Amino acid sequence: MKKAEIGIIGGSGLYAMPGLTDVREEKVTTPFGEPSDALVLGELEGRRVAFLARHGRGHRLLPSELNFRANIYAMKMLGVERILSVSAVGSLKEEHKPTDFVMPDQFIDRTFARNATFFGDGIVGHVAFGNPVCAAVAATLQKACDAVGVVGKSGGTYVCMEGPQFSTRAESNLYRSWGADVIGMTNLQEAKLAREAEICYATMAMVTDYDCWREGHDDVTVDQIVAVMHQNSANAAKVVRAAVAAMSAEKSCTCGDALKYAIMTDRKAIPEHTRQKLGLLLDKYF
Ligand SMILES: [Zn+2]
Repeated sequence: MKKAEIGIIGGSGLYAMPGLTDVREEKVTTPFGEPSDALVLGELEGRRVAFLARHGRGHRLLPSELNFRANIYAMKMLGVERILSVSAVGSLKEEHKPTDFVMPDQFIDRTFARNATFFGDGIVGHVAFGNPVCAAVAATLQKACDAVGVVGKSGGTYVCMEGPQFSTRAESNLYRSWGADVIGMTNLQEAKLAREAEICYATMAMVTDYDCWREGHDDVTVDQIVAVMHQNSANAAKVVRAAVAAMSAEKSCTCGDALKYAIMTDRKAIPEHTRQKLGLLLDKYF
């Protein structure tokens, strides 16, 4: 029996999910270690959901310290088939203003210190990643933005950087020259692992500021930044709730078959302990 069908990963500003009922916490241990925190299970709009605070409650973990594998595997263990991921980002384009939400459909990887695959340890797999987010879930998020009166933009490129420091101005301008839309520190590894776990995944990127490229506009006050963050987290909760309510029961995408042609290793050559460890992902193909 599935404990949850929809997963919600909350980032900076969204540390709990308002409106959850029938709430209980579950500490999940995965073959890849511990997730960022206990998962909060409950009901939202009549659907079973699992909420995870990406950085742990109290915001204790750096982006580079996150155990992305455990976070996504824990969702899989609970039965989650779709993940809505919420994260704070900087804008790389004038048109993406603070308090706008962007649903990126592409990523650029600028990280270098993260483990972002369930494979290895005797098994090689290569999933297709040309379309890194689930278009159906992203569209549901975008429509939910419209429904609750939040500016929600469909598509865009998310630069995922290592952090924890923000970009230099040269880097920020480089990413702008690449045509990227927003910059953050966490969502790409989640997207990769969700794909390997055959879970639909889409990101809602909440713009908090203009990164550092927009010279001559640095006169924003701390009060203004705090106000934007408060508004974003309130809006995110509303949008996620509307998206959960609107999520179709049937899936029209191919995310659930991502491993069908991905595994390269001869079945007989896969070590038993690896086969066991990944049973949740592989059993259907063996
Ligand atoms: Zn999908």
